[in-house]
Order: sequence, then C-alpha cells, then structure tokens
Amino acid sequence: MIDSPLRDSSLRSKKTIAVAKYANVALPLAVDKVFTYLIPPELHQSAAVGVRTIVPFGRKYVTGLIVGFPESSSLTSLKPLRDILDASPVVSRELLNLCNWIAGYYFAPWGEVLKAAIPFGFVSSSKRVVRNVLPNPKSIAAEIEKRSPQRARVLSLLAEQGSMQSSELQKKTGVKNINVLLNEMVKAGQVEIEEIVPQQKTAIRKKEFIVLSDIDDKRLAVTLESLPNRQKKARALLLHIQQLTNQGMREIAVTQLLKESRTTLTILKSFRGLLNIVARDINRNQDYGTEEKTLTIRLNTAQQLALDAVCKAISTEVHRSFLLHGVTGSGKTQVYIEAIRYCLRHSKSAIVLVPEISLTPQIVRRFKSHFAGQVAVVHSRLSAGERHEVWRRALNSEYKIVIGPRSAVFAPLNNLGLIVVDEEHEASYKQFDSSPRYNARDVALVRGSQANAVVLLGSATPSVETFHNATIGKYELLGMPRRIDDVSMPEITIVDMTAERKQEYASLKESLPDEKRKGLRQFQQSSVSSLLKQKMGERLRRKEGIILLQNRRGFAPFVECMDCGYSETCENCNVTLTYHLAKKHLRCHYCGAVKALHDQCPSCRGQNMQLRGIGTQRVEQELASLFPEANVLRMDLDTTSRKGAHDRLLRKFGDGEADILLGTQMVAKGLDFARVTLVGVISADSQMLLPDFRSSERTFQLLTQVAGRAGRSTLRGEVIIQTHQPNHYTLQHVVDHDFKTFYEQELEARRELDYPPFSRLALVEMKGEKEEHVRQQAERFAQLLKGSHGSFTVLGPSPAVISKIKNRYRWHLILKSKKESDPNGTGLRQTLHRAVDSWTKARQQSVRLIIDVDPVGLM
Ligand code: ADP
Ligand code: ZN
Repeated sequence: MIDSPLRDSSLRSKKTIAVAKYANVALPLAVDKVFTYLIPPELHQSAAVGVRTIVPFGRKYVTGLIVGFPESSSLTSLKPLRDILDASPVVSRELLNLCNWIAGYYFAPWGEVLKAAIPFGFVSSSKRVVRNVLPNPKSIAAEIEKRSPQRARVLSLLAEQGSMQSSELQKKTGVKNINVLLNEMVKAGQVEIEEIVPQQKTAIRKKEFIVLSDIDDKRLAVTLESLPNRQKKARALLLHIQQLTNQGMREIAVTQLLKESRTTLTILKSFRGLLNIVARDINRNQDYGTEEKTLTIRLNTAQQLALDAVCKAISTEVHRSFLLHGVTGSGKTQVYIEAIRYCLRHSKSAIVLVPEISLTPQIVRRFKSHFAGQVAVVHSRLSAGERHEVWRRALNSEYKIVIGPRSAVFAPLNNLGLIVVDEEHEASYKQFDSSPRYNARDVALVRGSQANAVVLLGSATPSVETFHNATIGKYELLGMPRRIDDVSMPEITIVDMTAERKQEYASLKESLPDEKRKGLRQFQQSSVSSLLKQKMGERLRRKEGIILLQNRRGFAPFVECMDCGYSETCENCNVTLTYHLAKKHLRCHYCGAVKALHDQCPSCRGQNMQLRGIGTQRVEQELASLFPEANVLRMDLDTTSRKGAHDRLLRKFGDGEADILLGTQMVAKGLDFARVTLVGVISADSQMLLPDFRSSERTFQLLTQVAGRAGRSTLRGEVIIQTHQPNHYTLQHVVDHDFKTFYEQELEARRELDYPPFSRLALVEMKGEKEEHVRQQAERFAQLLKGSHGSFTVLGPSPAVISKIKNRYRWHLILKSKKESDPNGTGLRQTLHRAVDSWTKARQQSVRLIIDVDPVGLM
C-alpha cells in the first residue's frame, strides 16, 4: 500500500478495465497522494476507474475510489483490494480529471477534493442494506446450491431475515468481496441494494401538523362538553381548535398550535383519535409553486441575440465561454432558461450556479415552472441523504438540470451542454475557509473546457478579471444594456453624511440649554439623513416598498472610551467586539465569544464608554422611533440562522406585509419585488475603505446590485446612498450607472500595482498558537522561496491584517506573479510546490500552512 505520486499519468490512460495488476486508490485523507494496491484476480472484472473500493489501511478498512491503473509499481509489499462497491463507475473520468486539476491547481489533497466533489462517496459508515426480491428465495437457493454456493448462502440468509446489511452478510458468509457478489446478484435480479446515508442531525425534514379539516366537528363538541371545567388547558386547546376550524383553517403546525393555545404536547396527545398528528416532509422543493408569468415570455432582440450565440456554440459541441453583461432586470435569467431549454431539446444537460444567498424560492420557482421534474436544487441545508439522492438521480440522467451554489459544479450530469454561472463576480464562489480552496466559477470554466461544454458567465457587474478576459477575447462578450420594457434605471443620489452631521449638530445645539451643550461633540449622528427620511415618508404614505442596506449586523460594531480611545476587542481574535441589543452583550463575529458591556473603561476608568458605528439593529431601533407605524423586517445572519427564516422574511415582504426590508448584503441579491421604489444605503463606507485591493470593486458591485432592486416595474425607482466620502470615484460611477468607466479606472489602478488581472496571486498563511513559531515558520518559508524569484515577487512575511483569529496567530506571505512573464502561472506553482515539499519535510507541528491560490480576500 504505500504511496505513488499523485497527478499521475494513469488517469490519462484510456484503459478502464483492469487487466493490470495494480490500482491507484484515492482515500479521503488530507494527504497529497494516491495509494497503490494489488488487484486480486477475483476483482479483475469489477475493478474500474470511478468505482468505490474497500481497502485495508493501517489496521482498518476504508472506502476509497479507484482513480487509475499504473503500469507498474516499484513497491514490493503491496496489499490487495478487498472489495468493490459499485457495479459501474459513480464518478466519471471527466469528473476525476476535474478533481485532479483542482488538486494540482489549488494545492489541495486529492482526498479532500473528492470529499468536496462527491458528497456521499466516502461516508465510511454508509450502510448498504440488501433485500431479497424473489418470491421464493429458499427454493432458488436450493436450486443454485451446487453451481453457486455463495449466492445460495446469501439467498437463504435473506430468506430468513428479509433484509441485511452487506457487512453482516460478509461476516456470516465469509465472502471477502461480498459487494462484488451482491452486485452480480443485483444484475441477476435476485436482490436489491439500498445505500443508507446517515442523516445530518441539523436537518429537520419532517414537521408535525394537525389536519383541522379532518376533525369530526360533532365529536369535538361532545368531547369539549364532557370535559370538566378544571381541565383548563385541555379546554383551551379544544376551544382554540374549534375557533380555527370555524375560521376555515385547514391545518396547523403542532408547534404553532401549542403556542397559540398555551397547552402541552402531552395534553394534545391525550386526544388521540380525535386529534391526529401527521408528520410530513417539509421538503423545500415542494412548496415553491409555479410562476405562470414567465412561461409565455417572448425574448426581446438583445436577449434573442445573446441566446442565438450561446445556442450556436452549444450545437457545435466545442467549448466556448461567454460573458453575458446585462444590467439588473435586463432579462439574463430568461436567457439562461431558454439556453437550457435548447440543451434539453438536444439531449444535453445543464448546471446553473448561483450564489447561495440568491438561491431564493423566487428563482427556484422560476426554473421549476419551466422544467418541472427535471430540475434538482442543491443547497447547503440538504441532508447527506438528500444530497446522495440528487447525486444518484443526476448520475442516472433522471435530472437534467442541477441548480445550486459552489458545489453544484461537481454535479455528475452526463452529456453536459451548458454551465451557467450567475453573478459570476460573487466572492462566495470561492471556498476560502477550508480545503479545497477552489473558485467554482473558474472550476466551471475548466470543466466546460474538459467536457466540451459552453460556459455562460452572467453579471450586471462583472469582476474586473472576467471583464478583462472578455475584452481580450478569451470570452465572447454579450451585452444587454437596457432593462426589460425599457424600464428606466433608478435615479441615484449621494448624501454627504459629514455635512449632514454638521447640520444635525447645529440644530441639536440650538435646542439645548447652555449647560448641556458641553460633551455634545460626541453625539451619535442619526443613521437616517433628512433626505432619506423624507423619501421614506413618501413611500410609506403611498404603500410602496423600501429596501435599506446596512452591511453590518448587530447594534454597534465597536465600543469605545471617549476619554482615552480604548476599544473593546476580542481576547481570541484581533478584532473589535460588536454590541448586540437582544442579549445586551458584546460579541465577536469571528469566534462567537461574548463579553459583558461595562460602563467604566477598563483602561482609564473613565465613565464615558460609547457604542459606536451603525449595525442593522441600531437602524432598526431608529426606524421604530422615526416611523412608529411602519412595519420593518430585519434580515441579517442573526435573524436568518434558522431554517426557512430567510424565505419567510422574503415572502412576508413580497406579500406587502411589511413596508421596509432592512438588512445586510442579503437584501441586495436575487430579489425581484415590483413594489420596491426606494432603496437606501445607510453607509457605503464600511466596505469601501477596507485595506484590500478589491474593496472598490466590491463596493461598486454591492451598491449597483442593491440599487437594481429599485423600480423594476413602471414605477421609477430611487436610490439614496449615504457616505462620508461623497467624492470617491466608485460612488460617482455607481450614480452614473457607468460600469465601463469604473472598470477602466479600476483596471489602471490594478495595472500600476500589478494586481490581477495583470498578475496571479497566491496567499501563504502560517497559523498557530505560538506567535513566535508562526513568525519563524513564515520566515523559513520565505527563505525557501528565495532564489527562485524572477518570475514572481513576494510580499511579507508579515502579520495578517487580522493578526489573530480564535487564538491562532496568522502571518501572511503574498506571492504575485506577473502574467507577462508567467502566463499560465506554471512557474509560480512549481516553485510553490517545491517550497511546500521542503517545508513539510521539516515542519513544525504547531504551525499550519495554508495555501490559497487566487484568494478573494487578503486580510
Ligand atoms: P435579470 O436576471 O437580468 O435580473 P430577469 O430575467 O429576472 O432579469 O428579468 C427581469 C424581469 O423581466 C422578470 O420579471 C422577467 O420575468 C421579466 N422578463 C424577462 N425577459 C422578458 C421579456 N422578454 N419580456 C417581458 N418580460 C421579461
Ligand atoms: Zn473572537
């Protein structure tokens, strides 16, 4: 068993059936290698690239994937494969090639890539349940006893038990490679196998209901009469139910019923027979409904041109990439839909990537109403079982379209025609917090080219890199500069919050008696300017919807002593603590640590601690006093952490139950509400001033996106952006809806500093509990890179901008390689691989090394 180098050429060989003696197996381990095993003669027939295998590893047996058949092996003490789980490959060569590319490009262990790509494949506790399907297993067993004693043994065991786990069968029969045998029996129609994947604990899939319309009215009345008065709770429950049925309500969730009637489950259950609890799957996919409106849409000229170009490329079956640059509301989604329809007509399948946050019921409903049973939606809240089911049905071509965030790029669809990457600029396509640190947009491009499929990137605000690629002809640019029906772009106004502050100060001073004016300099400016306030008032009177963006959650992002300037920071992380109103405590947004809020400054003992800055909770509080009659929904991580909360909030707002939707960037994405005519940005500054080369780009994208939520119908939209930097070039271009000029200006800035798209970046992070060790290791790594420069420059090593997270110190090295001298980044990768190898050979156990290729954030 021992290793052979990864990224091995055997992947490229055409051979699928093992006439060879050896198999390379990828195991779900964080090591950058595959393992070689002997193929025993009895497994020659079943061993194939892409099937799962059980192999001895150490003292255990583990599940792995056969990824290739090397011609030879220099190792002598190889162990044999023990069993093969699948009768046919569960991972295509195409996907294996993709994983191989990811492993190499992103410096990720092969096993970790496979774990990300194949959601169920390595679940070691995955159980295979074997069932008898024959009417007369006993007599068949007797019949075949002579010819195939092993099969006969299995059949008679199953005849007694009905169903058994394959591991159990293995023990009882003593057949080592029982799964090969079982797969043959499946083919012969003798047994069936089901894989049970453990459910994730967090996934609540069933909900309990009482079906009110099934309740026997008479019996209810009789029962109620017979209840003695002292059984208050029981009476309250039945009375409440009576009331609900009288109102015509058809069903109610048990939790809701208990809450409303203030009773307990025990009491409810004591009425079994009269009140029956039914448990039902609350599968998100079921209640999306359909959206008739878009079914009859005829594309306009710009859409048709874009569609024609894409379909033509699909028909040639040669990889092409397109950038569909269309303003918000220009009908991009409709183009995706028609392009997918074209794929289906030509027996091809399609993947649609969307940022998780925009995967709203609205968008899903739209796709489902066009493609009904052929669409699978994947998202992070699916249980492992649900994920497995999607995978299996996509592999069997039951699903032709898979929609989902990031990991949907690995969907095992056959005959792929198209990959759509909606909002291609979104940072969430990059997995940054664990290996493999891949960018799904870029992986989509690679998969497209390997599978000869078309890739369609769409955005109203393409990333600088992507737009650059479109201008140099790497992607074909398709433009849709106008909104559907020529709805005009919203009018955007900038409000200078510094001037606003002066005014507010002056009028506050006016209104106060002399002795109170002292100390006024430190007043907290209100977060809603007078202009925004006025515009909101108008909308509220006209019952039009308002969206407010403040991209920070909590009440105040920092607490500061106004005497000495001390601010409360986290003990585990080098960041300030955010004050949260609900629990009235300070919380760290990186590690979750909490701390009480003190009146006295821990540093100077002053009594002047103030809650500074604006979080969504503060805005919510101010709105309550500014517009007491208005209904406000707050949408941020704190109000949407529970399953379904996000959808519920959106539905409420869409139905007009609330006047104002206030939230973090969540309110900027994927929403399409005709009633919204005003968008307010409480502060544009928090992102714009971050020390990151992408901060302007991010700001431009976020503001343009949120502005796009305004005026999507005949009512013209208006946008108010508040800022302390009214002259920042980013804001000016947002106001003018001028992506092109913003892009050109930003591109020049990048050129000057050799940032992408003119260079390639790799971030090397050292992380550990002892700062001294972390620093030493970072310096050692820098030494290893020395001498090999030429094609790239190294920034650092230096402490990261956030120099400590969860008690781990962080040091960074940034490698920058110019595209001019190293167009494919091969030089950079080779050097980095060499450095990683020598670093690892003499590694310091207490320090972790993380490589992030094409990082989205450098902090
Ligand atoms: P985008 O994805 O660019 O934001 P959408 O595809 O969501 O745009 O289109 C915006 C709205 O216009 C949607 O409500 C959609 O149903 C509608 N729409 C799209 N194309 C057309 C068309 N050709 N004619 C009429 N309405 C359209
Ligand atoms: Zn912390």
